[in-house]
Amino acid sequence: MNTFRPHWSQTSARLMNACPRAWALTYGQPNHHSIRGRRAGGRPPKNMDEVMVRAMRSAWVKKTSDLYERKMWTKAYTTKVVTRLVNDALAEHDIGVPMLLRRQKIELAVQQVRLLNDVRALRPLIEGEPRRWAFFDRKEPTQVGGMGLYAAPDLAVFHQNRWTLVRLQFRTPARNPLGQQLEHLLAVHWAMNQPGFPDDINAFRLNVVAWRGTRWREHHLDVSSQSLNQALALAHHDVQEMTWLSRWANADPTLMSLPLASHSSHCDGCQHRKGCPAETGWATAKRLQENALAKPSQREPTKSANTA
Ligand code: SF4
Repeated sequence: MNTFRPHWSQTSARLMNACPRAWALTYGQPNHHSIRGRRAGGRPPKNMDEVMVRAMRSAWVKKTSDLYERKMWTKAYTTKVVTRLVNDALAEHDIGVPMLLRRQKIELAVQQVRLLNDVRALRPLIEGEPRRWAFFDRKEPTQVGGMGLYAAPDLAVFHQNRWTLVRLQFRTPARNPLGQQLEHLLAVHWAMNQPGFPDDINAFRLNVVAWRGTRWREHHLDVSSQSLNQALALAHHDVQEMTWLSRWANADPTLMSLPLASHSSHCDGCQHRKGCPAETGWATAKRLQENALAKPSQREPTKSANTA
């Protein structure tokens, strides 16, 4: 029985594009935990960088929550919070990192979180200017066109009769900038389907704040019917692929026919590596799978001739 409940999240969509097999093991088979249950526990971080990104995002959510109550964070307090989050995650997931490297990473993360104070879109909140605003942690879905959409903005700020939705990117992938823009635009769909926000695209601006190596950079994205339709089409397309993959995974519980990762780098730190054909080498496993899958198609004309 197919238990995949149609939903779109950046994590799920990126995993599917990186490795259909890993996606099927995470989301696409029966007897896996519900989305909410899985999210509560969370997927283990793949590497130190994922630990850092999660720690910075958690620190930011805590900081925003304190800002809401007009509590300001000092550098010492930011360091304390980030250090605890990083150390807890490393201990929980049994990731060993040399102490010097750990200290350096924490120092950089603290700096990155503190530099958010200088971001133009966030200054009114940092400086306590009177604004209506709300913050979200991206874990709450909204229903859009029959799918659960996990695409909340990090912040929504009301000013001059419009809501500015702010999306923070603690790491900015170099690949597929257009796809990333469409993912950001889904935040507008998310908001338009939330109680408390207007169901009107003219009521929204969208601001992306992305970390580029040493500083935060801000840019606006055009919010129009056309761009929103494109973004929704992308999400629906992804969800169709996920539904299809889920059926495939249920039809072949060995998963041996499911495509492996598109690149060997996706196997680094993959939680499904043990028992995967790529466990001892991605390139060989990929070649063997391609050869195995090519065989039936070579026999196909013969089969057709026999059954004609
Ligand atoms: S080890 Fe590689 S091929 Fe296997 S599931 Fe993980 S990412 Fe996919």
